[in-house]
Amino acid sequence: MAKNPLHCSFCGRNREEVKILIAGQEGHICENCVEHAREIIEQELLTKDDKTPSSFKLTIKKPVEIKKFLDEYVIGQDEAKKVLAVAVYNHYKRLQQKPSESASGDIEIEKSNIIMVGETGTGKTLLAKSIARMLNVPFAIVDATVFTEAGYVGEDVESILTRLLQVCNYDVPTAERGIVYIDEIDKIARKGDNPSITRDVSGEGVQQGMLKLLEGTDVLVPPQGGRKHPEQKLIKINTQNILFICGGAFDGIDKIIARRVQTNTIGFNVDKELQETMKKNLLCYVNAPDLKSFGLIPELLGRLPVVTHLDPLDAVALRAILTEPKNALVKQYKKLFELEGIKLTIEPNVLNFMVDKAMEYKLGARGLRSICESILTDAMFELPGTIQKDFLLDIEYARRKFETSKISLLKVA
Ligand code: ADP
Repeated sequence: MAKNPLHCSFCGRNREEVKILIAGQEGHICENCVEHAREIIEQELLTKDDKTPSSFKLTIKKPVEIKKFLDEYVIGQDEAKKVLAVAVYNHYKRLQQKPSESASGDIEIEKSNIIMVGETGTGKTLLAKSIARMLNVPFAIVDATVFTEAGYVGEDVESILTRLLQVCNYDVPTAERGIVYIDEIDKIARKGDNPSITRDVSGEGVQQGMLKLLEGTDVLVPPQGGRKHPEQKLIKINTQNILFICGGAFDGIDKIIARRVQTNTIGFNVDKELQETMKKNLLCYVNAPDLKSFGLIPELLGRLPVVTHLDPLDAVALRAILTEPKNALVKQYKKLFELEGIKLTIEPNVLNFMVDKAMEYKLGARGLRSICESILTDAMFELPGTIQKDFLLDIEYARRKFETSKISLLKVA
């Protein structure tokens, strides 16, 4: 029987059997075959990259360049940026190492998973996201609090890797070269030092579960996340080349550091001034034993060899956050108004006012957006559609709007 003239020249399906049929010069292709072809191309390009690591090398940014890139989006946090830049750079170099090199007795570069300690809202996630923006390896952000020990309500630890798989369309070889950022790692700290009668299923249990992910073995991952169950087909992923970056606020760790630093300095004639500056930012002295005292198990810390910190943000940093990053809040609002054909001008003392309020209300960098919203919402509501082409945001207007907003009720005593 002659084929219906309108059919896919690749799979032969009729017009009625497919959703879309794209016409070429001498034939047609359906949406299924387009998708299939795309997968083949991706796979081919990937294996080509593997065969010619030199082409991969061309895309590697040097640590200094990685830091420069991070500087465009994140204010301050120089130490964390440096540590991340080096770790990511080394990660790339590891990926380039041919398996034969490490097998033939050559020195094998081990991966250095990282743990970042810093108050909430100081830029940990932003750093992770900015790195993701720059990389050409898949990158996923997951939250440690959703996991529980196998057998309890919650998600299996293995589903950390599900996000990574989803990011690269379930392409396993690509996922196996990725980077994962695990947020809120402090929330799975062991609850109390004594092993209790009740099991610590969302704390130590999860830490135990994470060990094998971090060290580099074959892990069976549920493709849709959640719990592994017998009917589900699991995907095998080797985590040897996956870089893990963990972040957490570790509230109260400053006391642990203070205790250690103090006992270290007792008996020495330590400069009073030095003691004062040390007290101001104790986080910069954080080390693995402090994290152990906080409740991370030594085995987990052993797999996170690089510990770095983020500084608390002062008024100068908050001011810079408003205006300097590539997508700074002020730039975003100006753009929003511009799209309405309105030129927004913000008086410099309004920016100082916003920073003062963020400090006074202890809202940090995250609060800057809410403060901007509280001041600008009315203007953004009223001005579109009017004939007004300029809007000057002065201090009187800002103060009035802020004081009548809900956010002004948030003040902590
Ligand atoms: P964390 O993960 O440390 O709790 P985030 O990275 O989520 O904090 O920061 C919250 C928001 O505050 C970010 O989206 C960003 O707008 C702003 N922010 C925080 N720290 C910085 C920084 N160092 N530089 C620029 N923006 C920052």
